[in-house]
Amino acid sequence: MSIFDTNKSYDFGDFLPNILKLGINPTQSQLNSIISFFELLVNENKSFNLTSIVEWEPFLLRHILDSACLNLVFSENDYKVNLLDIGSGAGIPGIPIKIFNPDFKVQMMDATKKKIGFIDKVISQLGLTDTYSHHGRAEELGHHSGFRGQFDYVTARAVAELPTLLELMLPFVKQGGYAVAMKGETVNQEIQKSTKALHELGGKIINIIDPSEFIQNYPGFLVVIEKISETPTRYPRRNGVPVKSPLI
Ligand code: SAH
Repeated sequence: MSIFDTNKSYDFGDFLPNILKLGINPTQSQLNSIISFFELLVNENKSFNLTSIVEWEPFLLRHILDSACLNLVFSENDYKVNLLDIGSGAGIPGIPIKIFNPDFKVQMMDATKKKIGFIDKVISQLGLTDTYSHHGRAEELGHHSGFRGQFDYVTARAVAELPTLLELMLPFVKQGGYAVAMKGETVNQEIQKSTKALHELGGKIINIIDPSEFIQNYPGFLVVIEKISETPTRYPRRNGVPVKSPLI
């Protein structure tokens, strides 16, 4: 079950009832993948700082359950989904999305090469099929024909404030597809600042999901943005500009 320390047992505690409330009933093999992901992360973190979360319970709560909330957005009718996770870091939320939605094609992108190296290890150790990683910046890959306008869903957690994030995400989304931003307490302020970015980039907020309706005291929100028209080709602007001069 566990690849580094076969004697250690992992308690899933409240995680299982909570994840059931999200409509996910994980198999033993999916739970094993979560354990393997945790062990790879803890091991890699000894030589390269990937995350501040190295304890099992916080890992389940803040990395896995947080990512699983995205299943509140996905539809049962979703077919042949092509999903991109921008600024995945150690593979969050991309890796858990793939574990819980094995039929999705999941692609992860990050500007830091070492993080992509870690994601590649996870993909290979967990045997994840139809899962890919890309080293690069959203500002550049967003102009490549293999990426631009190609995705049904684009996700991001802890990458940038919403006006900036919209410029990084929406170019990748297909018309009629969705960008889903995982946000914390500042969600309302960020939305208020996003009117111009939404208008310029062809996005419309269609839902703000509060997972605490399902999971008590849940701290975050999911902002679901539909791409309702083409993003002008001048976006995203060059490296660093979306952060330095957001469309506000
Ligand atoms: N999503 C992960 C990591 C968040 S840290 C999590 O929630 O745990 C933010 C990550 O975004 C970093 O790994 C950083 O390298 C990446 N990043 C920031 N700006 C980016 C950009 N413009 N293009 C690609 N990756 C970016």
